[in-house]
Amino acid sequence: MKYQVDENGYYGSFGGAFIPEMLYPNVEELREHYLSIVREESFQTEFQNLLHDFVGRPTPLYLGKRLSERYGAKIYLKREDLCHTGAHKINNTIGQILVAQRLGKKKIIAETGAGQHGVATATVCALMGMECIVYMGEHDMARQRPNVERMRILGTKVVPALSGSKTLKDATNEAMRHWINHPTDTHYIIGSVVGPHPYPDMVARFQSVISEEIKQQLITEIGNPSPDYVIACVGGGSNAAGAFYHFLNDEHVKLVGVEAAGKGVDSGQSAATTALGKAGVLHGSKTLLMQTTDGQVVEPYSISAGLDYPGIGPLHAHLFETGRVTFLSATDDEAMEAGIELSRTEGIIPAIETAHALAVLSKIEFDKDDVVVINLSGRGDKDLDTYIKWGKY
Ligand SMILES: *Cc1c(COP(=O)(O)O)cnc(C)c1O
Repeated sequence: MKYQVDENGYYGSFGGAFIPEMLYPNVEELREHYLSIVREESFQTEFQNLLHDFVGRPTPLYLGKRLSERYGAKIYLKREDLCHTGAHKINNTIGQILVAQRLGKKKIIAETGAGQHGVATATVCALMGMECIVYMGEHDMARQRPNVERMRILGTKVVPALSGSKTLKDATNEAMRHWINHPTDTHYIIGSVVGPHPYPDMVARFQSVISEEIKQQLITEIGNPSPDYVIACVGGGSNAAGAFYHFLNDEHVKLVGVEAAGKGVDSGQSAATTALGKAGVLHGSKTLLMQTTDGQVVEPYSISAGLDYPGIGPLHAHLFETGRVTFLSATDDEAMEAGIELSRTEGIIPAIETAHALAVLSKIEFDKDDVVVINLSGRGDKDLDTYIKWGKY
C-alpha cells in the first residue's frame, strides 16, 4: 500500500486536489464514483474487450536480440508503439470515456500539447459518438498541424488557446474554464497521471494493463514474472506509471524513469523535473515542478513535445522522494542517437519520447543475465520532421 494513493488523494506528501471552488462539484463527483465504476463487472468486460479488439492488446513483449547483444543483457521491448493511434495514450482515453458514459456525461473536453492525447481522445469520442472539444495552444496548432487535422477528420472541434505562451498550460486553463461552465454534461479527459485527485490514480489504473501484461508475458518467456529492470520515459508519467504499477511492491525490480534533459540539465533549456524541481502546486496537485525562487513555473524545453512538461505526476514525485524509482535523464542528442540506434538494430523507429528511455541503456551497467524491460511508449511516425531536422543519420 506504500505507493498507493491514500483516502485523501495523497502519495506521501504529494497529490491532493488544489482546485478552484467552482470546479469542486465536477472533481468531487468523479472522486466519489470512479472506483465503484471501474470495479463493475460490466465496465471491466467492456474495457477489456475494447483494449483487445480496438486497441490491439495485448501488445507484444519482444526480445530485441541485437540490442541485447550490444548492451550485454536480455532486453525486452514492451510494444506500446503497436497500439491503435501509435502510443499508450489510448489505454487511458478508452477507460475515461467509459467512466464518462457511466456518469451520464454527453460531451468530452480535453487539452493537448503535441496533439497525441488530443488524437487519442478524438478517436474514442468518434468510437462512442460523443461530442468532443480539444483545446490546443495556437502556437502548438501551427507546430503540430498533422495532429490537428487528424482530430478534425475524426470529428473533433479543435479550439485554439490564445492566451499566454499559446501552448499546453494555456490550453489546460481554457479546458478548466470550459469545465467550470459545463459541469453537468461534460467530462474532462486528462492525458497523464497529473491533475487533481482522482485523476492520477484513475489514469495509473488504466495504464497498469501494461505491467499486468509484462508479468504474464515474462512467465511465458523466462518462467518468472519479475524482470531485473523496468525502464520508461517520464513526461507527466503515465506510460511509466503503467509499466511500473504491478512491480512497485516487488522491491527486487529496479525501476528507472527517464526525463528529458533537453540541451543539458544545467543549460536552462531542460525538462528534467526531479533534477531541477521543487515542491509546489501544478495543475491541481502538489508535486515536483520546475519553478523560479518566487514560485513561477519555468517554461520547460525538450526536443520531444511529449516530455516538454514542467512537472511530473504526484505518484512519481513520491517514488522519487522515497527512492523507489531511480530517475535519470537524457539530452536531446542522446535521445536522437538512441532513436536511430533502435531503428537500425531492431527495425523499429521509436517516438522521440521513447528514445529517451532507450538512451539510458548506455548509462547502466548490466550483468549479462539481467532481464531488462523497456516500455516502448510510442512509434516515431509523428516525429519524422524532427528526425529530418536533426539530420544526423
Ligand atoms: C505523451 C507521450 C509520452 C509522455 O507522456 P507520459 O504521460 O509521461 O507517458 C511518452 N511517450 C509517448 C509516445 C507519448 O505520446
